[in-house]
Amino acid sequence: MGEAKTIAVIGGGASGLAAAVAAGEALRDLEGAGGAAGEVVEGDAGAARVVVYEASDRVGRSILATGNGRCNFSNARPGEGDYRNAAFVRRVLFEFECRASRYVPSQAKTSTAYPNGVLGFFSDHGLMWREEGEGRLYPLANKAASVLDCLRAACAAAGVEERVECEVVAVEPPRAEGASFTLRLADGRFERAGVVIVAVGGTVARELLPKGLSFREPEPTLGPLATDPRWPRRLDNIRVRGALELWRPGEKMTPQELNRNGFPMGTHEGERLVAREVGEAMFRKYGVSGIAAFNLSRLAEPGDVLAVDFVPWVRPCDMEAFLNRRRKLLRASLGRDVMWNDMLRGMVLAPVADVLLEAAALDGARPVAKGETAVIAPVLKGLRLPVTGLGDVRQCQVHRGGVSVRAVDDRTCEVRRVPGLYVVGEALDVDAACGGFNLHWAWASGLLAGWSAAERLRA
Ligand SMILES: Cc1cc2nc3c(=O)[nH]c(=O)nc-3n(C[C@H](O)[C@H](O)[C@H](O)COP(=O)(O)OP(=O)(O)OC[C@H]3O[C@@H](n4cnc5c(N)ncnc54)[C@H](O)[C@@H]3O)c2cc1C
Repeated sequence: MGEAKTIAVIGGGASGLAAAVAAGEALRDLEGAGGAAGEVVEGDAGAARVVVYEASDRVGRSILATGNGRCNFSNARPGEGDYRNAAFVRRVLFEFECRASRYVPSQAKTSTAYPNGVLGFFSDHGLMWREEGEGRLYPLANKAASVLDCLRAACAAAGVEERVECEVVAVEPPRAEGASFTLRLADGRFERAGVVIVAVGGTVARELLPKGLSFREPEPTLGPLATDPRWPRRLDNIRVRGALELWRPGEKMTPQELNRNGFPMGTHEGERLVAREVGEAMFRKYGVSGIAAFNLSRLAEPGDVLAVDFVPWVRPCDMEAFLNRRRKLLRASLGRDVMWNDMLRGMVLAPVADVLLEAAALDGARPVAKGETAVIAPVLKGLRLPVTGLGDVRQCQVHRGGVSVRAVDDRTCEVRRVPGLYVVGEALDVDAACGGFNLHWAWASGLLAGWSAAERLRA
């Protein structure tokens, strides 16, 4: 039956399109000179085909929204991405690279091999890119559409069929050996396929999947942090290039750890530094947004303290000396006593200075008395904002949860209990920090599953 030779990809986003291209190309190659997977006559029982079922009115919408429309599609050093379920991800990426050296032409040639198979795949499909800070890779055309155009052209060349406005509500496994999967569609119809790749993204619903699959309800993450709004409310929309630290009360740091991080002894009693992110932060009425806050949101718990460091280039233990030198310099240039407002002017914006002075209970119009720099130093190095949770969840970039990685074979992304069913991308319980790591995972897991699915069909 033709349906047994259908690979159904559910979801036409990043991982789904990558899986569809990989499966279509692999089928074409495995069929030898037989032409593209979709070039066969409809109804031909021998015809292998790849069909993408996409709920929205076009494939790739999710890709167009990434990186503020520019699509930070990968990272030059994807291993550093601090993935959730890192051991599983490492094994999948290892297997992916092994397969890439077989399926991705430029990875097979030592003369053109790229640092990883994702870049080799995109290069083979015509995409050019450039690197920005921290290894972030963006298409040369600086538009996400450029990435999607390459993927859609690859889909067309591999004979992949697209079914848009076609939401799949349930995937039912074959009832007997050799039988097909049943896909129940939202409009009541159903279709069948021999192999199914679930690539529906982070909002994957438990009801879509066969019963009994280990699953964690997805929740948004990688978004702005909500904090006590007292200070953020007064700084709404102000951007700061500094550092954010996440502190967890109720835990401790050893003197060696304090020393290594440059914190003077006696500070941060009864709390532990969970993580520090250097980068841009933007104050919002409800808390703090920006990439640094997004990354910390993956680790934050209500009750933690977010500390905003406005002078990240000065170590905490050197801060007092730095301020004393500044006071001396300003006194010489102003020719009078240095006021607190003078001390902060030129270092931070005026509304920030007002907040910092109020937090330190200092009067900006008063002269800086000897020894008083010790009062402002800890506030400048860490304005403390108690974390209450996530800020605006609509801004969250990924979901945590989905299908448990334990349910999936790390050599193929195939569900162990249900042969022929694959789960990829964010539908798996994998997420990472900002920087192109999430899309890198979507492409790599999608490609690996696509190649594996084609091999299974051919076998
Ligand atoms: C605003 C924003 C910006 C981002 N920027 C970046 C970035 O620059 N770099 C980066 O690495 N990551 C970024 N991410 C994260 C990245 O987009 C995701 O991790 C990635 O797209 C996940 O790929 P996926 O294929 O698993 O899911 P998606 O790309 O979300 O694709 C899922 C697809 O499945 C479809 N679908 C869902 N349910 C069904 C169903 N039942 N039947 C049929 N179709 C269905 C959806 O319509 C969608 O097209 C960003 C995320 C957001 C929200």
